[in-house]
This record gives sequence, structure tokens and C-alpha cells, in this order.
Amino acid sequence: MVTTLSSIDDATLMRIAQALGEEDAVKLIEILKDLDETTDDEIANKTGIRLNSVRKILYKLYDHSLVSLRRTRDPKTGWFIFHWKLQPDQMEGFILSQKRRVLEKLNIRLEYEKNHDFYFCYTLGCKRVPFEEAVELVFKCPTCGKPLMHYENDKLVDTLTKKVEELRKELGE
Ligand SMILES: [Zn+2]
Repeated sequence: MVTTLSSIDDATLMRIAQALGEEDAVKLIEILKDLDETTDDEIANKTGIRLNSVRKILYKLYDHSLVSLRRTRDPKTGWFIFHWKLQPDQMEGFILSQKRRVLEKLNIRLEYEKNHDFYFCYTLGCKRVPFEEAVELVFKCPTCGKPLMHYENDKLVDTLTKKVEELRKELGE
């Protein structure tokens, strides 16, 4: 599937921003969508985001091939000018690979939950421990000292299974 500029919707932008850990990435991409090519100065002026932050986000996008970069030299100052352009056809692939990474992590977690028996003191702020560890601790919580009791993780396994199935469907696996 080829992603065109017009098919980059808000949900896609949010996903990219979340994956990059940069909220402001949404604003940047929106500016880039409207212009064929633009400089980091222009983006900073239009969004009100500090130039340093704009550059940081642009380089993150560049690392994932979501923008392309062209460099020219200012004839007056001799300084480099960076021209950025959105690569919309890369976005679909980026989101797919993000989803695959999440799926991988969820699968590992799900297997861990399925293959372990957990014990818990049922105190807020304390941690569950797997059976092997509980035996070593003589079923006493290492944090609060209360007795460790069996912890039913069926609900968690159900939730994780549903999430894994949803993602598999989205990825067509
Ligand atoms: Zn405890």
C-alpha cells in the first residue's frame, strides 16, 4: 500500500509521535505535510517550538527515514541550510514495524505469565514473585514481611491474549 500525503491522518501522526516519544512531532509533520520542502528555521517560526527541539525531532524522524534531508550553503553567510521533506511512503512501514515490536514484547510477557505461578502479599506497592522465588523466601514478602499467597493471573493472561490477537489481526498474521 502506498501512503500519500493526504492519507496521513491524525491517528497515524499520533502513532508516530508516540513511537518517537515526541509529542511535538505531530506539529512538525503537519507543517511538513503542507510544504514540499522546508527548513528547520521555518518550522520553528511556524510552530513556535524552539529551534533545538525542532532539530532534535527532525533528526529522530530522519533516523527512521520519515523525512529526507538536503543540504545547501547560504551564499551570504557560508553556513549550511538544511532542507527537510516528508517521506510519506515510509510511514506505513514504520507503523507496521512499531506494531511488530509491541507484539513481540506482548508475546514474551504473555508466555512469562502463562509459564509461572505467582505469589503475592496483596499489599499495595509490593511485587508479585514467581513460585521458585517464593519458596526461597519461605513465602514471606521481602518488602513488607507479610505471608505470600497464591496470585491468580488469569485476568491478566486474558487481557494480554486479547491484545496479542488484536495486533496479529491488524498485522494480518
Ligand atoms: Zn509485601
